[in-house]
Amino acid sequence: MGETGTRAGRRSIVIAGAGIPGLTLALALAQANGAALSVTLCDPSLGTGAARHAGRAYAVAAGGRRMLARLGIWEAASRAAQPIREMVVSDSRLADPIRPVFLTFAQDHAGQDAEADAPFAHMVEAEPLAAALLAAAERAGVTFENHGIVEATPAGGVTRIALSGGRMLEAALLVAADGGRSRLREAAKIGWVGWSYPQMGLVATIGHARDHEGRAYEHFLPGGPFAILPLVNGGALGHRSSIVWTERAADVPALTGGGPEETLAEIERRFGLNFGRLVLERGPSAHPLAFGLARSFRGERLALLGDAAHVIHPIAGQGLNLGLAGAAVLAEAVTDALRLGLDPGSRDVLRHYERERRFDTLAMGAMTDGLNRLFSNDVLPLRLARDLGLGLVDRLPALKRLFIGEAAASRGSLPRLLRGEAL
Ligand SMILES: Cc1cc2nc3c(=O)[nH]c(=O)nc-3n(C[C@H](O)[C@H](O)[C@H](O)COP(=O)(O)OP(=O)(O)OC[C@H]3O[C@@H](n4cnc5c(N)ncnc54)[C@H](O)[C@@H]3O)c2cc1C
Repeated sequence: MGETGTRAGRRSIVIAGAGIPGLTLALALAQANGAALSVTLCDPSLGTGAARHAGRAYAVAAGGRRMLARLGIWEAASRAAQPIREMVVSDSRLADPIRPVFLTFAQDHAGQDAEADAPFAHMVEAEPLAAALLAAAERAGVTFENHGIVEATPAGGVTRIALSGGRMLEAALLVAADGGRSRLREAAKIGWVGWSYPQMGLVATIGHARDHEGRAYEHFLPGGPFAILPLVNGGALGHRSSIVWTERAADVPALTGGGPEETLAEIERRFGLNFGRLVLERGPSAHPLAFGLARSFRGERLALLGDAAHVIHPIAGQGLNLGLAGAAVLAEAVTDALRLGLDPGSRDVLRHYERERRFDTLAMGAMTDGLNRLFSNDVLPLRLARDLGLGLVDRLPALKRLFIGEAAASRGSLPRLLRGEAL
């Protein structure tokens, strides 16, 4: 195909979607390539700034933290980042007076090298993280478009992109980071394999009287996992945690429909007694849960990133971490191509991106799906089997790595940004 795109178009990348993965990619590309690459980030929700992320918090694994530090925004984000120093996993029924601990691991499991003392993850509040990313991306020269992308047509060495406001852009590569229901993925006719879970994820911020001491809990209950994830101190009672509470979708209206006091009483039944008095500081917000994987992570001059490529159960808190890993690989592949004078949207670049990410993503998705199926029920033989199994888990480094977010890769095979190195 002839090179009919403009020279500026061939040195441009457009990203659809300013979620954390899209923002991180925009920043990484703009910082690494300066004037050699024009980076445009389009999202109709950009007008709300970082506010649309309010009330959400993510467990960011060590690789993501190293990348954010390398991009220069960890210092700002870390003011709202609580290190997770220990993880405690239990399996019990709702009415059980105590929740027996089956698996516990501490920060020493994260380290394979000099970072052995580092926490294996941080709970990072999404609003300050997004605000830090937005400010840094602006400083690095990213152009923002407060519009959605409605259409992209690859032709002549570029892809022509129509924005909802009527403007047209040209780019060597369009990155669809437009979420699990990606319209751009559908328009490119990239298939999707997936299913909905008969569960909802309820997210809330809980204030409590006693310190969490950096400990995260995951109680496997018959309706689904109930995770208590430590946040930086603050709030009405001095200490706070975020909960990600999975329940059967059919039970959610009864659990949350009766007003804040009834909801708090349901939370107290699951929370355990370790934290003293509880208050509901924010939420709960309810999120439908699904598993899904794009049949391909690429189209012609198109890369899928974040939930547009993969949606997984939040049982191990790894969805965003997968998106950050994707951003690290894509930023590296595009930057390396540009430095060699090659086309940053070529099939070779996209193939490399897909090869590096699809297997890890599939492995993580399969493990989270399997864990959820095994634990979210109250069938006696399965309870016994998994109790034995979970005891063994203590000796299974692979499953621990799932929780700490370095599922398959050894440090050496990670992309440069996840190792904390410059592009
Ligand atoms: C209950 C729950 C708890 C979770 N907890 C964790 C956790 O602890 N750790 C973790 O790693 N992950 C977690 N996740 C997963 C994480 O939330 C997602 O993986 C992550 O938010 C996906 O980000 P994204 O930017 O890909 O998609 P989204 O956040 O959905 O963002 C997509 C963006 O694209 C924009 N957009 C849509 N269409 C267009 C268009 N046509 N043009 C331009 N822009 C467009 C939207 O406005 C939006 O801003 C959790 C998920 C759930 C449901």
